[in-house]
Amino acid sequence: MEGCRQGCGRRPVSDERPLSTVLAPWRDDRRGRSRPRHTSRVGDVRRDTGPSPVRRPPAEHGSSDDERDLPVATWYANLTLIDGTGAAPKDGVSVRIDDDGTIGAIEHGAVEAADGVDVVDCAGTFLTPGLIDAHSHLGLASEIDASMRLDVSVAETARDIFVACSDALDAGFTTIRDVGGLEGAVPDLISRGRLRGPRVLTSGPVQCQTGGHGQMGPLWEPSDLFDSHEILGLRTTAMLGDGPDAIRRNVRETFRRGADLIKMCVTGGVITVGTDPRDTQLTIPEIRAAVEEAEARHTYVTVHAHNNAGVRAAVEAGVKCVEHGSEIDAEVADLMAANDVALVPTLAPREILRERMRRIKENAGHGSDAYLAQFALAESLVAGMQEVIPIARKAGVLIGLGADITGPRQKERAMELVLRAAVEDPMAALVSATRDNARICRLDDRIGTVEVGKIADLCLWSRSPVEDVNVFTDTEQLALVLQGGMPVAGTRVEQAGVIGRVQPA
Ligand SMILES: [Zn+2]
Repeated sequence: MEGCRQGCGRRPVSDERPLSTVLAPWRDDRRGRSRPRHTSRVGDVRRDTGPSPVRRPPAEHGSSDDERDLPVATWYANLTLIDGTGAAPKDGVSVRIDDDGTIGAIEHGAVEAADGVDVVDCAGTFLTPGLIDAHSHLGLASEIDASMRLDVSVAETARDIFVACSDALDAGFTTIRDVGGLEGAVPDLISRGRLRGPRVLTSGPVQCQTGGHGQMGPLWEPSDLFDSHEILGLRTTAMLGDGPDAIRRNVRETFRRGADLIKMCVTGGVITVGTDPRDTQLTIPEIRAAVEEAEARHTYVTVHAHNNAGVRAAVEAGVKCVEHGSEIDAEVADLMAANDVALVPTLAPREILRERMRRIKENAGHGSDAYLAQFALAESLVAGMQEVIPIARKAGVLIGLGADITGPRQKERAMELVLRAAVEDPMAALVSATRDNARICRLDDRIGTVEVGKIADLCLWSRSPVEDVNVFTDTEQLALVLQGGMPVAGTRVEQAGVIGRVQPA
């Protein structure tokens, strides 16, 4: 194909961040994997061309290997494209991934293998953008109650975090926005290729007031001792600050330790015993101090907020995103839309908290009454979020999607798409989880839709997830996950991971 030959060379990607930062997560992992003989199909075997050259990650371009042996592009051909924009699925589409890890071309109709250009026949499969979870807590991946009473060792905490990172990729999540707990050292480990996982943006520790949501410790404990809960370089659930200067100092410290954005709690929360979701927390000057520090670094503040008084204060202070937003009415939704403030509803915690309540009831130990009274509020808050979604849509608020999983069920974050689809529809859930979450992550120039020039973070499904939304939670249906163009997960990853050059006729 003429267009293919012209476009499939190595071309630089204009990008503010170096590609090695954006694309590197799989780097060492790929290098260390043994490679069986390859075929050129994700599905059935079409031809076998012997041992395959390894397509190198973009970070290593121009380094050492003989470039003549390397394929410069791969067509994923004859698939159904669900591009993440909300457009109707299109059959018979081929998507070319170039060796810089970006999408080089999208064509209708047949494509052919050529010198240096592979073709993978993907007939019967469905291509979507890689999923994004805009509200995760990878740092809280251990059994949460045991973890908060310091009954989980640092070793086990680290193990659970690392497994959760890996599991996210296996579930099709190629990007995660972590909003509370995860220290910057963990995303750094991933971006340097030392840990398997998705691209992770993190807020680092949550900014909260003394006694605010996020200070998850025993109520007898003096707040001055709360800092001892910190696991250096791994997890700090919250930083306490009172007054704009204290908040400013904590925010600066949080950025220094690798945060990409700032998360604050401006109302009480469900899982912090002793706080009430109907109360407001932090003052407008305190929130504004954080906003100033974030904007100075060209990023933003998002807030945990259940009630409208908290949302109003946060919008006035200049935040750009609201998590949960359980009570938002038409007036507040209009205010958010007018100020370009996004919303990330979180529906999955109801299921997570129900399970946690069952466990606490069974054990019925010391303090269980206080937990159960606290969690009883969760039901009505989540029910509120379901009603908020159509109100926010009508006002034109940008709506993302966040699973807000705390505890060991990190594998199940895709359940948020199923729950969202029940409120809207599967396509709306997918667009929120891809294009709109990319906008909230401020990465929409690079990821979130299947478009030429974007990074090839993609999922290939064996069945259509917009026809049956439960496909999103069934990893048996997830044939392939591509991260920066490299196959990293999926039932067919071994076949796809060894795509070789197909000699021209
Ligand atoms: Zn959360």
